[in-house]
Formats: sequence, C-alpha cells, structure tokens
Amino acid sequence: STVLSALYLGPASGTAAVTTTLGAGWQVLAPETTPAAVLPLLPQVHAILDASMKVPLRQAELDTAVHLKLIATATTGADHIDSKALAARSIPLLTLKGQKQVLNELTPAAELSWMLLMACARHLRAANRHVEAGLWDREKFPGMLLKGRILGLIGCGRIGQWMSRYATAFGMRVIGYDPYLPETEWPATIERTDLDTLLQNAHAVSIHVHLSDETRGLVGPREFTLIRPGTILINTSRGAICDEDALLQALESGHLGGYGTDVLEGEPAIQTSRIWQYAQKHDNCLITPHIGGFSPDAVDIVLKFAATRIRDFFAT
Ligand code: NAD
Repeated sequence: STVLSALYLGPASGTAAVTTTLGAGWQVLAPETTPAAVLPLLPQVHAILDASMKVPLRQAELDTAVHLKLIATATTGADHIDSKALAARSIPLLTLKGQKQVLNELTPAAELSWMLLMACARHLRAANRHVEAGLWDREKFPGMLLKGRILGLIGCGRIGQWMSRYATAFGMRVIGYDPYLPETEWPATIERTDLDTLLQNAHAVSIHVHLSDETRGLVGPREFTLIRPGTILINTSRGAICDEDALLQALESGHLGGYGTDVLEGEPAIQTSRIWQYAQKHDNCLITPHIGGFSPDAVDIVLKFAATRIRDFFAT
C-alpha cells in the first residue's frame, strides 16, 4: 500500500504524539515552522496538521499542494489559512472551534486561575519576598481560608466550570453570573445569580468571559463599589475586561484584597500598564505573562485529536 505524507507544523515535542496517532501508513514531515522550510514540502503532502499558526497558507501556497486532501488544525482559530481557496477544491478545514469533547479536556487556564486565587489568598508573593529577604515572621501573613467562603464566577463556560469543581473540592460555595449560558447547560456546581448579587456576596471573584464590546470594562467603577472589601479578584481572560482606572483605584484604596492576573491591557508592552507599575511597588498584585493556556500536556491532547481526525478521514 502507498505511504501518505502528513505535514506537521508545531512544537518539536509534539512530533511523537502525531506520528504515533497517525500510525502505520503515514510519513510525518516535521520541518521548522518557517515559510522557507515548509513551502518546498507542500507539493508532496496529503494532509496538514497545523498547531503553529506561524506559516500563512494562502491561495498561492495552497496551489502548490497538489495532493492535499485535508487540513486539521490544533487551534480554534485558523485566520492564517485561506478557507475559500480550500473550499474551491473541496478540501475540508477542520479546526477545534466548537469541539466541546476535546476543549472540555483542556484545563491549563483553569488550573492557573486556581493557582492565582490560592496565591492571593495566602499572600504568596509577599511571603516569598519576605523569605528571600532573610526574614521569617509568620504573623505578617494572615491567610484567607477558602473553605466556607463564596467564589463568584463571571462567565460560567468551560474554564468557569472547571473553577467551580476545584472550588467545590475546597469546600467553597460557588455563585455564577452568565446571561448567555442556557439553563439546560447550567452546571449543578454553580448557583445562578445576577452580577450585582455576585459582587456583593463573593469573597473571591474570577473572570472567565471573552473580550467583546459588551465585556470591555464589564468590571468598572460601579462594580468595584459593589465588591465587598477585601475581595480577591482573578482575571485570566483579558486585561480590558476590568476598567483600569477603577481597578487601580480599588487596589490603591485597599478596597480590593488582591488582584491575580495572567493578562494585561496592552500586553506584551507591559511597562506602560498602570497595573504592572502598581505591582512594582505592591505585593498584593500577582501577574503572570499570559501562560494560562500553555502546557505541553494540553498540546498533546489537541495534537492527538487532530491527528485522529486525519487518520479517520483517510481510513474511510
Ligand atoms: P467559554 O466560551 O467556554 O465561556 C465563556 C462564557 O462567558 C460563556 O458561557 C458565555 O455565555 C459567557 N459570557 C459571555 N458574555 C458574558 C457576559 N457579558 N457576562 C457574563 N458571562 C458572559 O470560554 P472559556 O474557554 O471558558 O474561556 C474564557 C476566557 O478565558 C476567554 O476570554 C479566553 O480568551 C480566556 N483564555 C485565556 C487563556 C490564558 O492563557 N490566560 C487561555 C484560554 C482561554
């Protein structure tokens, strides 16, 4: 039988997962993800598995891929691929968009959100700096217990629902605001509420919504006045969902107990961010560089999913 060629575009660490999943009958080409390395290979490939989004595949490039029958991406977006040019040749473009069974398996952003919440509750940043300075005074760091307290989730989709499971395991009560999640999909671990009630009752608030015209500044001056004093706010979604002036004021006045975030407005140009500037001087603001989604374990899950789709497509 003939050997088929799959072009894999992604981190080298994922090549084994792709090769194993495709199995016998497939040759996997795994060049560097640059146009110079990739384009010469296009004429010989039958399928492309794209996890990198680094090589634009427009009409001109796709025209050289004369044997191409399928592209499967390991990403939800695929703006770098000319889907019209593919459709004209009846070549399917399979992305992760809407593929709930695999997306629901991906927990890295939820796990990072939970870490930020715990770190803020126990003053991790300040306590660690304290020890690094050669000090050992436990009374400086009164921890906030999660057990028995209320977590408020703004957005109760994929990541929000993982957060609710972690919170339940820690003995928290979970309330959530999500005007678009249908009642039939509402998880049993979250009590449905409105935004104001959520802000007035939660001891920790975590944001899990996409940035849109509607969610830009969703947590603004009015919302910060409703938040209970001492509340911990977690944001791994997008910086602009919190109004920067109002957030800064809530931090500076001491109204907010802490802010843990993986995202900044204007990232990666962070030096101009006033939240980053605040964190230079204050330990109750903990920032990570948008690492929430990134974990090789999760990359393997999506690569295996995409490779299975390619294998099955050619098997039928
Ligand atoms: P999701 O689509 O599964 O859930 C989002 C939820 O927000 C939906 O249930 C939706 O109904 C709800 N929603 C929409 N508008 C709302 C509003 N105005 N108020 C309240 N809820 C509203 O998305 P997800 O996978 O849970 O991801 C959530 C966010 O996390 C996204 O913004 C995504 O970009 C971000 N994210 C960040 C990282 C990272 O590396 N930090 C990684 C993955 C995802």
